[in-house]
This record gives sequence, structure tokens and C-alpha cells, in this order.
Amino acid sequence: MTDQLQMVDPVTRYPSIEPPKQHQEEPGLDATLEPQTDRGQDTYRGTGRLEGRKALISGADSGLGAAVAIAFAREGADVALTYLPAEERDAEWVKGVIEESGRTAVLIPGDLADKDFCASLPKTAADALGGLDILVNNAGKQIAQEEIADITDEQLEQTFDVNILSMFRVVRAALPLLPKGASIINSTSVQAYKPSETLLDYASTKAAINAFTKGLAQQLGPQGIRVNAVAPGPFWTPLQVSDGQPKEKLPKFGKDTYLGRAGQPTEVAPAYVFLASAESSYVLGETLNVNGGMPTP
Ligand code: NAD
Ligand code: MG
Repeated sequence: MTDQLQMVDPVTRYPSIEPPKQHQEEPGLDATLEPQTDRGQDTYRGTGRLEGRKALISGADSGLGAAVAIAFAREGADVALTYLPAEERDAEWVKGVIEESGRTAVLIPGDLADKDFCASLPKTAADALGGLDILVNNAGKQIAQEEIADITDEQLEQTFDVNILSMFRVVRAALPLLPKGASIINSTSVQAYKPSETLLDYASTKAAINAFTKGLAQQLGPQGIRVNAVAPGPFWTPLQVSDGQPKEKLPKFGKDTYLGRAGQPTEVAPAYVFLASAESSYVLGETLNVNGGMPTP
């Protein structure tokens, strides 16, 4: 199979999928997603860029986080994965791929809406990995609603808790553990600048993540810790089928990009590898857009 380092036509690297209308209870599983995705298990080739590094990745059981976890392992890192207990099946799958790649995977299930879990998570990961020098804040909650009146307080608060407040809480707890040279990477979204009318709460958290990332980068730069963000466009993941999109939009998901197709999770992974590795030593407060060509500010 072609790997990510071989030249290919980006239009045809992956088929332009037409996912059937489908529903999964939140948080959704990759194991039962139709069609299945490429998380790099057969296609990501490592080149030693994260040799000996120790990473904590949230939402690493599925979708983009799983692809990032697999890429980091192939690049030589050991990885702690955090995810919701309901996602154990996906997490075990990612653990298997990481171990087949010759690296260590540590599973830490828990709820990032829980303040105590956020506060204890970095130390749990560092104890298990023997240190921590990459933190990827990637977990996200996305529930589409046609009207603002349909967004309950419960949804609003959960979305802010998971998407942005957990970043403050986890980073606060991680900082005493991170050495100079460490890297923090936050998953934001094209929704931060191009909000869909059905994703008001979600898009608002993503705009907040951009401000958080740029501000924190200035605060931590002088301490030798770099903070950056990745802003994906439409990637086919379980988030989309567990009420992340209105059902009628699923068959056309990602077709309005300039490549005419949705992204496959492994296509976002090199952006995280670049920002995690020492090769991006002069890159701080940056947002890498991986979105199929949509113009960004
Ligand atoms: P995904 O469903 O595979 O991953 C999201 C993960 O978030 C879940 O696997 C789950 O483990 C985690 N999560 C959700 N609620 C949680 C909670 N309460 N506690 C702990 N973990 C929780 O979907 P994905 O598309 O890979 O999403 C990953 C990130 O990428 C999210 O931040 C999402 O906003 C962002 N993103 C995705 C897209 C896309 O098109 N798929 C586009 C832009 C941004
Ligand atoms: Mg998941």
C-alpha cells in the first residue's frame, strides 16, 4: 500500500466517499463506522522524528486522535491515550497497532468534563510513560442543532467543558511535568473561522481554542515550551455520525472541498508530527490548516 511519503494525486489518493445515513450513540466508535477509515495502520511510515518522546493524546481511541497516536508511535514515541470508557473497543485497537509498531501504549479512560480527572491525567500519563514531553489536546464534542433554542444548557456546558475548559485544566496540571523542548498541540477546526449555522456552541469553543493557543504560546515560549494548533477541515470520523452533522448531510460529507472528498484521519497526522518534533523549533502560536483548500485568515 502507498505510504504518506510517496507522491500521489491528492484528489485520488482516497476515494470520494458517500457515507450512508447512519447513527451512533455519542461518543461513537470507529469499529462500526461506515465506511471504515485510514488511520495510518497500513499507510503511515515513520522516519524517526519522535524517537524516545513521550506523548499524551486525548480522544486517541478514534478518528484524528487515533491517527496521530499511530503516527507518533511509528515515529518512535510511546503514547498514553485518553478516551471515554465507552470507547474501550477502539482504544484497544489503537493500542494493538502501537504495540505492533514496537512502542508502548498506555490506556487511561476517563471523562474530561470531570475537573478531577483533568487535574490527575498528566501525572497518571507521566508516571506510566516515565515522563511527558508532548501533550495533544484533541478530544472534542460536537452536537449539531438547527436552532440556538435547541441547544440545552447541558449540551452547552458539556461542549465547553470538553472542548476548551479541559484544555486549561489539563495544561495547568501538565506544566510542572513538561521539560524544555516539550510541545503542546491543540485540535481546533475550520469552524473557528467558518462557523456552520448548526454548530454554534462547537464553533465558539474552537474560536476560543485559537485564542488560547496563541496566548499560551506567548506565555510559554520563553520557558522553552511551544504551543500550536491544528485546524482540520472535514475528516470522516465517528464524530460525524454521533449527531455531529445533520443526517441528511452525511452522504455529501467533505465533497465541497477543493479535492472533492473528505479527509482520511491519517492525512492530518503529519501536521501533528511536525509540530511535536524538534524540527519545528521556531514555530509557536501557529495554526496549521489541514482542510482541503478552504481559505483561512
Ligand atoms: P472522534 O469522535 O474520533 O474523536 C473525538 C474524541 O473526543 C472521542 O474519541 C472521545 O474519546 C473524545 N471525547 C469526547 N467527549 C469526551 C469526554 N467527555 N471526555 C473525554 N474524551 C471525550 O472525532 P474526531 O473527528 O477525530 O475529533 C477529534 C478532534 O478533531 C476534535 O477536537 C474535533 O473537534 C476536531 N475536528 C474534527 C474534524 C472532523 O471533520 N472530523 C474537523 C475539525 C476538527
Ligand atoms: Mg472515539
